[in-house]
Amino acid sequence: MKVLMSLTLAVASLWTAGCGSSPVTNVTVASSETDSTLTTTNQTMSEKVVKTDEEWKKLLTPEQYRVLRQKGTERAFTGEYWNTKDRGTYRCAGCGEVLFQSDTKYDTDCGWPSFHAPASTNVISETEDRSHFMVRTEVLCSKCGGHLGHLFDDGPQPTGLRYCINSASIKFEPKKDEGKADGAKKESGSK
Ligand SMILES: [Zn+2]
Repeated sequence: MKVLMSLTLAVASLWTAGCGSSPVTNVTVASSETDSTLTTTNQTMSEKVVKTDEEWKKLLTPEQYRVLRQKGTERAFTGEYWNTKDRGTYRCAGCGEVLFQSDTKYDTDCGWPSFHAPASTNVISETEDRSHFMVRTEVLCSKCGGHLGHLFDDGPQPTGLRYCINSASIKFEPKKDEGKADGAKKESGSK
């Protein structure tokens, strides 16, 4: 509890210190029934993860840093997850936020992991990207601001959207205790 308190304070002071002109409005609390490790009472938008470039460099691999913090793009068909079909959860490689679920991942031949919807609406931010003589929609992790990839409108139903994501931006976490009912539980095994 104390940790959470001081963490909140630290973040709050960061906010006042470095507000700048970030137009973050009204981030409502995601209705996360499942992941409730940090979700207690004071769920405000102060949950953002803010780090310096130096801190990110220490935390991330060079490739993750290049993509997440410098808006890089990995080459098609080279990332870790473009062809992954396992069931599970994709978290932000920068801050651990749950960004996508495997049941929204679908096959494309574009060479990057593609999803037709995020895990929940609040976890992804969108912004206009006018680099490379194109107008595209960039998608970022709402929590840490890490660059994830781009959003296109040529995806499958029900959304018609394609979140085209760099593998380097995400971390896959396979789903536990599913399918294989081998009795892998070891609650009363050591007596
Ligand atoms: Zn993040």
